[in-house]
Amino acid sequence: MTRTTTPAPPPGAPAADRDVAGLVDDLTALLGPDLVLTDDRSLDKASVDGSYLSPILRAQWPIGRPEVVCRPTTVEQVPAVVRAAVRRRVPVTSRGKGTGNYGQVVPLHGGLVLDLTALRGIDHVDPEAGVVTAEAGVRMLTLEKRLAAHDSQLWMYPSTVQSTLGGFLAGGSAGTGTIVHGRNHEGFVEALDVVFAHEDAEIVHLEGADAQPFVHTYGVAGIIVRATVRIEPLQDWRCVYASFEDHHDAFAAVQKVHRVSPAPRLCSADGAHVASCLPADEAIPAGRASLRAIVDAAAVGQVEQIVAAAGGVVEAVRRGVNESIKVSTLSYNHPTHWLQKAEPDTWFHMEVQGDALVERLDEVEAVYPGGTLHLEAGHGRMFGMLNGHFTTAEAAYAGVAALEDLGVRVHSPHQYRVDHGTEGVRALAAGTDPYGLLNPGRWES
Ligand SMILES: Cc1cc2nc3c(=O)[nH]c(=O)nc-3n(C[C@H](O)[C@H](O)[C@H](O)COP(=O)(O)OP(=O)(O)OC[C@H]3O[C@@H](n4cnc5c(N)ncnc54)[C@H](O)[C@@H]3O)c2cc1C
Repeated sequence: MTRTTTPAPPPGAPAADRDVAGLVDDLTALLGPDLVLTDDRSLDKASVDGSYLSPILRAQWPIGRPEVVCRPTTVEQVPAVVRAAVRRRVPVTSRGKGTGNYGQVVPLHGGLVLDLTALRGIDHVDPEAGVVTAEAGVRMLTLEKRLAAHDSQLWMYPSTVQSTLGGFLAGGSAGTGTIVHGRNHEGFVEALDVVFAHEDAEIVHLEGADAQPFVHTYGVAGIIVRATVRIEPLQDWRCVYASFEDHHDAFAAVQKVHRVSPAPRLCSADGAHVASCLPADEAIPAGRASLRAIVDAAAVGQVEQIVAAAGGVVEAVRRGVNESIKVSTLSYNHPTHWLQKAEPDTWFHMEVQGDALVERLDEVEAVYPGGTLHLEAGHGRMFGMLNGHFTTAEAAYAGVAALEDLGVRVHSPHQYRVDHGTEGVRALAAGTDPYGLLNPGRWES
């Protein structure tokens, strides 16, 4: 897909007196011409993210396009880049791998996209203290694999395993490991090195509670250049694939599997139709609902009993870090991604939560035409993606009340505003970003 037009800035756009040409000169002097990009291909690439998953957002495309992209290669270059952008009053949108789902990484007001993917250093692994410190652009997959050599594992990583540490912290919320540790703003982050949008910007080290407002708030209050996150001793994981005649049985089994001890790292399930859209695997047989779980070796027997009692069949039990990562890539938004890939321009989804997803499954799925739920075990609760045939945005939103009546909590993914700790983050950003230059346009949509 190509976007060659720069959309008109929405109301409230930052400084009309921005000097992009001056910034391009500054950045070229700072980073060299190869790391400052203004060609159409680079600008187009920096205009996309995972918002293709939402037909409501797709209808609004193009929602933004940068005027320049730069790619610092050292952490120390970031404050210098930010100082230049602030002095030129040019908006700055931080970018990791660009897999953020819903337009959060698209520069709504143009300006500079700060590509942080070259910052890949893993500074310090400390299994005794239970932390790793790494630069923002390191991929979660790389981090998890590197930790295995230290007999350690991340507390959590997302299904987009190629995404970056900075992007997961700033844009993500949960993933493999969430059953035990909750979401990424719930204790995962020990410390952050961030850069504020000040004319004299430097790297600022923040620990504990001071670091938390930068998690899941899309970089609007600061740019993360380095993070210290929690790790734990490596467990002997097994990947259990099971199939069921009926997805009601598969979903009831998820509710039980997520309570086995030691706790699983992940447990997901889909009905036969969504399962048939996943990448081909003999452990996901055609025409059957599929359950996939990453469980401690000591819990495999318990899981086999649960599957058998629910009328299912264990199709495979696999081991190794690569197998775990493969199961992770079939979780969270990925089944929706595969469903949409198999049947384009047909589906939309809502993020849903609550035991009613299992206990009132037929009613939940009946809310939208063709309704089919992807179920995920969370931290003490069930949640998932309710996929339905897309008709109109109004019909999509009308389903929310019906779901709430069934006891389901709904989060609409069809927007890109900050919706976590919003007031506090806004107050913080007033000081850390006085000119409103960091990923602007996130307070409303
Ligand atoms: C199919 C699919 C499956 C997904 N599954 C999951 C999942 O399991 N769990 C989950 O939590 N999310 C998931 N996501 C959302 C997203 O992929 C993850 O949150 C991912 O970790 C984001 O990382 P990224 O490097 O791609 O970040 P980007 O998409 O580049 O950025 C995400 C947000 O963070 C900001 N940002 C990026 N880097 C920085 C930085 N260094 N400092 C400050 N701000 C920054 C960006 O401006 C943007 O607002 C999924 C998305 C898709 C499309």
